[in-house]
Amino acid sequence: MRRPMMAGNWKMNKTIEEAVVLAEAIHAAVADYDHVDRVVCPAAICLPAVRAALADSPVAVGAQNMHWAESGAYTGEISPSMLAGLARYVIIGHSERRQYFAETDETVNQKLHSALAHNLTPILCVGESLAQNEAGETDAFVSGQVRAALAGLTGEQAQGVVVAYEPIWAIGTGRAATAQQAQQICGDVVRRALRDGYGEGVAETMRILYGGSTNEKNIAEIMQQPDIDGALIGGASLKAESYAAMVRATDELYRSS
Ligand code: PEP
Repeated sequence: MRRPMMAGNWKMNKTIEEAVVLAEAIHAAVADYDHVDRVVCPAAICLPAVRAALADSPVAVGAQNMHWAESGAYTGEISPSMLAGLARYVIIGHSERRQYFAETDETVNQKLHSALAHNLTPILCVGESLAQNEAGETDAFVSGQVRAALAGLTGEQAQGVVVAYEPIWAIGTGRAATAQQAQQICGDVVRRALRDGYGEGVAETMRILYGGSTNEKNIAEIMQQPDIDGALIGGASLKAESYAAMVRATDELYRSS
């Protein structure tokens, strides 16, 4: 059975002091739910303080982005080796990065290779826009994103990647995909693309998260879907109680199965 993951993407929220307060509150609220991988992804500047606050916690830390290069003339960027010791996970190719910071399938692919080479677990984000969804292009677009992102990775490397399906129209809108819609894309599109690329054995071990307006009310139904192994959570991860409620609901489902 794949181990579920609840990953919080704090985006550009929280000062260093506020991030430590939130991390400590989250630790206190979720430390016992050990059937779930718990991950928080603060802004880069908060990583050292949050990492220190969670030093003895089962809550892992992730970054929200990184450059692929080891070092160099990339003003404002952070390299994978700078994340060493601070982050175990790194979100790659979030739609906000693709939309506002011109990330492409090619740079996402470079970042995946680099993250894996630096022992960081990438959380690869894919997902279609509302226009693509309405035009019936979701399946082709999302499977194309998965293929392009993973290009050149061996099956063994691919197993080190977590994929997050995040329809752009559901992110931050309060309009989550239904559990059935999310399952259909995570299973029939994302896992199928993994199967086509790497075979059944690899595809079955890889975790696929859903992201887009998840909260404590809809998480249980989403987590009951066979191809959904967790959530990438934006807004609801900024409140310790909401995030903890989602972890608890997931822990209950997996504890009893
Ligand atoms: C996200 O930004 O990855 C996300 C899923 O946000 P929200 O949960 O707020 O929709």
